[in-house]
Amino acid sequence: MIIGCHVSFKKDCLLGSVKEALDYGANTFMFYTGAPQNTLRNPIDPLSTLKAKKIMQENGIDINKVICHAPYIINLANNLDEKKYAFSIHFLSEEIKRCEEMGISYIVLHPGSSVGIPREIALNNVVYALNKVLENNSSVTILLETMAGKGTELGCNLDEIKYLIDNVVKKDNIGVCLDTCHLNDAGYDMTDFDTFLQQFDTMIGISYIKCIHVNDSKNPVNSHKDRHANIGYGFIGFSSLLKIIMNEKLREVPKILETPYIGDSNTDKSRIYPPYKFEIAMIKKEEFNSNMMEDIREYYKKTS
Ligand code: FE
Ligand code: FE
Ligand code: ZN
Repeated sequence: MIIGCHVSFKKDCLLGSVKEALDYGANTFMFYTGAPQNTLRNPIDPLSTLKAKKIMQENGIDINKVICHAPYIINLANNLDEKKYAFSIHFLSEEIKRCEEMGISYIVLHPGSSVGIPREIALNNVVYALNKVLENNSSVTILLETMAGKGTELGCNLDEIKYLIDNVVKKDNIGVCLDTCHLNDAGYDMTDFDTFLQQFDTMIGISYIKCIHVNDSKNPVNSHKDRHANIGYGFIGFSSLLKIIMNEKLREVPKILETPYIGDSNTDKSRIYPPYKFEIAMIKKEEFNSNMMEDIREYYKKTS
């Protein structure tokens, strides 16, 4: 089982991220190269990167399964503001360079939002941008994330994902990141994952799936909301998520948790704790822990 979660990425680059992942009992992880909502980036520190790689090797973390996530302010779909569109293309290229510097193979990307232009035109803008970014030969693969369909988000159905992949010239540099919460919210029943996977395979091909974001959803199927819930605490449920994680056909695909942090209590709302150590333990044990929230609060109160 290759399982990890979203971790932070600070001045020491991958080094801090690896340590955080190991603390959660993860054997892979996902990071943003800086704040996800802005484009301020520090240069990659080669020495920290080297140290991080050594720790990964010692602990059986395969760097080829480690995932970077592009900031979500990149929007390749809308070109009404030409400067912004050009900036998105440029910034994604820079992110890919940073991945190359660190030896990271995959970067997850939200396809974008059409905001005020027809969807077909927006899709073609994404195609143009992806091909532009991939013009420079690269070892990095862009993974298009399946989206919930909130607002004018593209990529919230398999037809759109297929359209994008079909029109990207360099097929070796394009793939898909499934997000279980997003798929649920987009109208795909994750409690019947085999049917979904069959459909995906027929339309696109299972081999394009290079990452799975494993999240429960706070809303029922087809709600188009995109609000993640902790594993087993949402509408998809523990057993369905576990089946997805354990699916033989996706054995080599890294599973990444992006579930919400847990609030301390009603008395101290400012303190939040990461759920990942406990969610990963629960998944490894293959047994739902209905007392997880309490366990998390208790554990982090003791250690802080
Ligand atoms: Fe995402
Ligand atoms: Fe996601
Ligand atoms: Zn989401």
